[in-house]
Amino acid sequence: METDVAIIGAGFGGLGAAIRLQRAGFTDFLVFDRGDDVGGTWRDNSYPGCACDVPSHLYSFSFAPNPNWSNTFSGQPEIWDYLRGCVDRFGIRPRLRLRHEVHEARWDDQRQRWLLRTSGGEHTARVLICAAGPLSDPAIPDLPGIDEFAGTVFHSARWRHDHDLTGRRVAVIGTGASAVQFVPQIQPTVEKLTLFQRTPAWIMPRLSRRISAVEQAAFRTVPGAQRLARARLYLLRESLGLGFLYPALNRFASRLSLRTLRRQVPDQHLRDKLTPRYTMGCKRVLISNDYWPSLTRPNVDVVTAGIARLVPDGLVTDDGVHHAADTVIFGTGFHVTDSPVVRRIHGRAGRSLSEAWTPSMHAYRGTTIAGFPNLFFLLGPNTGLGHTSVVLMIEAQLRLVLAALRHMRATGIQAIEPTAQAQQRWTERIDQKMAGTVWQTGCSSWYLDATGRNTTVWPGLATSFRMRLRRFRPADYRTASAGSTPNDSEREHADAL
Ligand code: NAP
Repeated sequence: METDVAIIGAGFGGLGAAIRLQRAGFTDFLVFDRGDDVGGTWRDNSYPGCACDVPSHLYSFSFAPNPNWSNTFSGQPEIWDYLRGCVDRFGIRPRLRLRHEVHEARWDDQRQRWLLRTSGGEHTARVLICAAGPLSDPAIPDLPGIDEFAGTVFHSARWRHDHDLTGRRVAVIGTGASAVQFVPQIQPTVEKLTLFQRTPAWIMPRLSRRISAVEQAAFRTVPGAQRLARARLYLLRESLGLGFLYPALNRFASRLSLRTLRRQVPDQHLRDKLTPRYTMGCKRVLISNDYWPSLTRPNVDVVTAGIARLVPDGLVTDDGVHHAADTVIFGTGFHVTDSPVVRRIHGRAGRSLSEAWTPSMHAYRGTTIAGFPNLFFLLGPNTGLGHTSVVLMIEAQLRLVLAALRHMRATGIQAIEPTAQAQQRWTERIDQKMAGTVWQTGCSSWYLDATGRNTTVWPGLATSFRMRLRRFRPADYRTASAGSTPNDSEREHADAL
């Protein structure tokens, strides 16, 4: 089937793209998703306690405000409902192709079209928007003996709701943003919880509260009230971002976190294990009021020795100690810098995005990639944020996508891609700005790729990203009109990247 724009993914990015395209009059598009419902990461992560660390009024589309958020920081069910609601509110449902996993997307230079092979059939498209999301493919470490374990094993992003944890001996591996949310939820029901911690995290109090019916009514009825609330949150969160760029500013927050730890964990031995030893912000700062207290309960054991192997009835650590378990839950994060979708996208001359991104990811303005015509990558390299809502970044990218599509329509251009030089300049500027930020203070984190480059986080405030993507700059792109293909020397240059 032929469509003008193909979108991969029906999460925040893909649905945002669909809505913005529809409203801008680009109505010939399809949204492909491998799942049987929309929602992306907010569909897949249904673990107990799953919630957002960014306030709801900011973690939502600016063009689809929701006056009915029940909490300042919403839980997963409400965010998922919001996204499903957006589908009907903006009439996107007919454009959805659910249970359509994109196995391959290949650029055809002669036809100037993307050829998509999906589990639901083949499609061609002039433009491809990849919104597969950086947190969509769970990472499970390849631990020795994992296949020999006789109990139940699952990842937090594929929670086994059919597996009752009551009275079980549960091993949890990982202590990141997901684990700090589900550990306090499961701790009261399990018989024994053994938490395998590699690096203790910085944790700040979660200042969430219910939003009252009066406030909700005000958001519904008082003109501008919700926009004002969003603007206030925007500024507040941007000010928090300064701590990532100038780590010295985090001293106050670090002291607050350690004071909370002292109050919540009276036992010195346990507190030592839980005390972070790296600069705050280098890894994602977590927020929770109940994680540390839950670890003080008698049925919890925090293990800091490395995991040597799994055995049929538990885990053995490097110090030779056997830890009995009948269930293992991995809270070990996602394939972020090695996402499987990039192996499936092939640009000019058949080159895959994973080849182009080996050893390191590059994209012009985090969105377009030399050698990959008419591909727009949402939440691409260096578009992540630690302090505020990534929906702001998605929306900035979507403005750029629309500006590019309008430019193509107005000029009759069939194919565009950034010049190798523009992409190189952008990357160099990112790397320069990254130096001196908190992420470069020496910790290991999933923000860094195998070469040690930070390819995930934007080294600035959301505002500066939005400003930089505000205008489409035709001079930074190479173009092809109907029937023409880019010349060979340009191609070689792009392929060299
Ligand atoms: P994560 O932040 O990547 O944490 C993974 C955890 O697993 C870390 O503690 C890591 O230890 C540990 N780990 C990884 N491999 C290991 C191994 N081989 N052995 C032992 N431990 C291992 O993953 P996540 O908690 O799923 O969160 C991922 C991202 O999702 C977050 O950073 C955030 O962006 C997002 N998220 C957001 C929210 C929210 O808004 N509330 C909630 C959940 C997730 P090290 O630290 O030593 O590497």
